[in-house]
Amino acid sequence: MNTKDTIPFLDLATMHIELEQELTEVFKRALRTASFIGGPMVEEFERAFAEFCGTKYCVGVGSGTDALRFALMAAGVKSGDVVITVPNTFIATTEAISQAGAEPRFVDIDERTYNMDPAKVREYLENCCTVDDRLGVVIDNKSGRPVTAIVPVHLYGQMADMDSLMGLAEQYKLVVIEDACQAHGAQYFSKKENHWRTAGSMGRAAAFSFYPGKNLGACGEAGAVTTNEEALAQKSRMLRDHGQTKKYYHALEGYNGRLDAIQAGILQAKLKYLPQWTEMRRSAASRYRDLISAIGNDKVISSCEPEWSRCVYHLFVVRVENRDELIKQLASTGIGTGIHYPIPLHLQNAYAGLGYKKGDFPIAEKAAAEILSLPMYPHLRGDQQSGVVRELTKFVATEGPSLMEPKIA
Ligand SMILES: *Cc1c(COP(=O)(O)O)cnc(C)c1O
Repeated sequence: MNTKDTIPFLDLATMHIELEQELTEVFKRALRTASFIGGPMVEEFERAFAEFCGTKYCVGVGSGTDALRFALMAAGVKSGDVVITVPNTFIATTEAISQAGAEPRFVDIDERTYNMDPAKVREYLENCCTVDDRLGVVIDNKSGRPVTAIVPVHLYGQMADMDSLMGLAEQYKLVVIEDACQAHGAQYFSKKENHWRTAGSMGRAAAFSFYPGKNLGACGEAGAVTTNEEALAQKSRMLRDHGQTKKYYHALEGYNGRLDAIQAGILQAKLKYLPQWTEMRRSAASRYRDLISAIGNDKVISSCEPEWSRCVYHLFVVRVENRDELIKQLASTGIGTGIHYPIPLHLQNAYAGLGYKKGDFPIAEKAAAEILSLPMYPHLRGDQQSGVVRELTKFVATEGPSLMEPKIA
């Protein structure tokens, strides 16, 4: 492969060039009305995105991190609480928990989907907590603090096993806030309800990010809270705007976390194309799967999409031993890749104070050492994918069996 055939990890330019005229119109409309913060463009987008998610309310905010923080606070998570989440996520998940005044408590993940393992949540609640029947709360034994919420992360565009998590939340009276920042339009088949549910519609509330590289991305920073609860939506609206009920009447201290009108207009324009882009991502994913299974050994493992899931493939992640060597080889042939994420949160310096150590979450740790995100975006072409898998094939062939763990028959 020569240099003109480089395959970037992410191509954000092509889709924006296609939509240039439409997006420029948004900017012109904003200039002509001089309505830059709030106003009709924000409200129109909020209505459209709520409809897309199948929720009653959507509150546009400044980022996915704002959305998570506001959703947690609006749902009643407060200072001194413990909130359960996973170690293999972007740090914004736990930043929001800490910023709401709570402490993150990690549980390990499912090896096949990389999402929160409900069995591990149950294990934690049963073995590391005490239910205080008198107060009706669950207390974390180690810290003596009340456990009040679960934040499942719909990682890589695939929803966590929500039926099981919602069941546990109900049993232990915990709030569920979905981190749907990578999962715009992802679906989950709820056996309990016998129908498909969209990401962002299952928990008390959910957080979305519209960071440019997300499946629905702004041309800057943006995010949203979705919920079916009027009071929760109202509280989120106050939190994003300095705790105001009306101008200069502050019921509480809030934040500057509003969605600006130009971003809302851009998101509204792009939302129309999202179902089509999702289909393109899903076809690309299935093409990768076919190409990878044709390698004919199990040295490259694609992530699993259970029958109850419609993944929107924010990322296409494979697992391979000697991952770092592979990255170098791919880079030398002009193929961009990523690692999401190389260091699990419980081992980050920022969380040294939480007292976790290596070995606490073996599945997340093993995954972090082996996962690799291949190029994935709607406009990724089939010949580019073949090029990527050709290099993968070469790599596992030259690696030979000696570098792999000998397989015991
Ligand atoms: C992107 C992302 C966030 C944060 O979103 P921002 O808009 O960057 O604040 C939170 N959680 C996950 C899983 C994300 O991927």
